[in-house]
Amino acid sequence: MPRLRTTPPTRKAAPSAARSLFVISIVARLPVPMLSIGLLVHAERITGSFAAAGVVAAVFAAALGAGGPLLARTAHPKVIGIGESGLDYYYEHAPKEVQAQVFRAHIEAARTSGLPLIVHTRDADRDTIAILTEAMASGPFIGVIHCYSSSPELAWRALELGLYLGIGGILTFRRSDELRATVRELPLERLLLETDAPYLAPEPFRGKRNEPAYVARVAARLAEIKGISVAEVERATTANFFRLFGKAQAPDAGPCG
Ligand SMILES: [Zn+2]
Repeated sequence: MPRLRTTPPTRKAAPSAARSLFVISIVARLPVPMLSIGLLVHAERITGSFAAAGVVAAVFAAALGAGGPLLARTAHPKVIGIGESGLDYYYEHAPKEVQAQVFRAHIEAARTSGLPLIVHTRDADRDTIAILTEAMASGPFIGVIHCYSSSPELAWRALELGLYLGIGGILTFRRSDELRATVRELPLERLLLETDAPYLAPEPFRGKRNEPAYVARVAARLAEIKGISVAEVERATTANFFRLFGKAQAPDAGPCG
């Protein structure tokens, strides 16, 4: 069964921070021709929900070739990003070379379309940095390292390349002292909040099904770490989101969803 992973906005009594949430973490384990069906139907139905076009390396490497099918999806008004895509040496669902090839194809699609690339990286910092650096040198593109939780080197290199960093529930985990120490130093102007729902629920919901509304917990922790108000975190991360995802339109009014 193809599996579709999305982060639908929720109508639950969402604290205002939840309105700064972004659907930046959509993975379609579908062949490209089917991509529009699941993703876009979902995105079209829900105000404040957006889609990102991407395919997972393990499922679909060969047909990416020229990037045409992927690019074709970016014409849809709800498709505001490319990805997520990148290197995962933890699961290694596809050989490293194939992952790199697909990652480069997504970068190319981001560059050509002008849409931000949503980068996934796990246990692969060195190669991720190398590919992003090399690709940026051959032509600019914009993007975000989603669910950033790895080395300080990756964070600072990504910032140098003009990328943003997505901060999720891991920031609240008890053992994340190192991550919190790094994030404390990172410029607020380059941080996004994200849910990665249904995964990575923040404390005190760790291990449970994540909900977009819980992003408020991440906002609160970020505010605490940086010694600023939650309102300031909301203001900055929302502005950052719309700066990066320039194609996204803010919902008119009312609660997200
Ligand atoms: Zn990911």
